[in-house]
Amino acid sequence: MRLLPDAPLDARTTLRLGGPARWLAEVADADDARAAVRFAHQSGLPWAILGGGSNTIAADVGYAGVLLHPTGRRIEATERADSVWVRAESGLPWDELVAFAVRRELAGIAALSGIPGQVGAAPVQNIGAYGEQLADVFVSADVLDCVTGKLECWDAERAAFAYRDSAWKRGEEGRWLILAITLKLQPSAFAAARYPDLRQELLDGGADPDRAPLAALRRAVLTVRRRKGMVCDPEIADSRSAGSFFVNPEVPLDAARDAESRLRAAGRLGPDETMPSWPAPALADGSERRKLSAAFLIERSGFRKGQDGPNPRVGLSRRHVLALVHRGGGSAADLLALADTITAQVARQTGISLHREPRLLG
Ligand SMILES: Cc1cc2nc3c(=O)[nH]c(=O)nc-3n(C[C@H](O)[C@H](O)[C@H](O)COP(=O)(O)OP(=O)(O)OC[C@H]3O[C@@H](n4cnc5c(N)ncnc54)[C@H](O)[C@@H]3O)c2cc1C
Repeated sequence: MRLLPDAPLDARTTLRLGGPARWLAEVADADDARAAVRFAHQSGLPWAILGGGSNTIAADVGYAGVLLHPTGRRIEATERADSVWVRAESGLPWDELVAFAVRRELAGIAALSGIPGQVGAAPVQNIGAYGEQLADVFVSADVLDCVTGKLECWDAERAAFAYRDSAWKRGEEGRWLILAITLKLQPSAFAAARYPDLRQELLDGGADPDRAPLAALRRAVLTVRRRKGMVCDPEIADSRSAGSFFVNPEVPLDAARDAESRLRAAGRLGPDETMPSWPAPALADGSERRKLSAAFLIERSGFRKGQDGPNPRVGLSRRHVLALVHRGGGSAADLLALADTITAQVARQTGISLHREPRLLG
């Protein structure tokens, strides 16, 4: 275990914001992680987990504790009767795992190309894009209970995945450290693309979107993501973000209808226009819910791509209204103030509460 004092979090988060972590502990395995938690106890400090920092807003004051940062990067593939099980350690960049699967002609995660962050964080919010989500291929995770020091194996039932959510995300901060995950992938050189803009990109490149070679699918995903500024690349303006800042709200049918009529009454929705919405899992009592587009609600509530925040050092991405970006020289407080402005205005215009996707650290 390597302990780094006063580790700057602006250098370790994709938003490039935040003060230092008192300590950052690089942990390669369970023993390292136990030692880091012991160190936190002895120092009377809290601890938390930081992967690639792409879904994290680090507070301007930094984090007054010990951050556990996974570094294990091994991948192992095991052939089974009808599939290949791939186990990857949590410190591996997620996109390297996708590249590995594509190279080995293993289908199941190619549409998740280009998502920043580490493998260990992928199940936490059940990463998803272009019609695929981690839950669809997840077998299990090796997890360290940082309170008891015990190793556990969590299957999909225990992970209790939902849309951009899981038992880890709902659980106690820092308690469960994912050390490795195992995915079930299909030995196939081809996969179908589900999303319209992805299908179009494949057609433009001469590939069959219903049976696209995995490498072509990966290339198409990366091209589409790049266009939307949804990759981390210092060359791309507006790439200092945490990706989508708000999750698409899942609301009761009545709330969806109410939002639509409010927008129509305010002249923010044309007479022949409908508000986009999709079926969402029903509530326990069976009542219907709809998933709404957070981007649509934000735009129709009066925001536009590229708009500056109350402090123009942060703003909305010029490529994607759902991404809040740090333009340089700003602070986490500026960003959170912009998020509050958006949340309040969307609630006023539509009655819908937006929820932040990235966690606030510190
Ligand atoms: C440009 C951009 C595009 C994005 N596009 C997408 C997208 O298409 N789809 C999508 O779903 N997300 C997207 N994201 C969000 C983000 O990349 C994912 O949520 C990613 O999985 C976060 O990984 P990370 O290692 O950076 O997590 P971090 O930000 O370091 O941590 C996020 C959370 O996971 C927890 N965590 C991290 N590692 C572990 C571990 N080993 N064990 C237990 N808990 C852990 C942390 O405690 C924290 O709560 C995007 C982000 C950016 C910046």
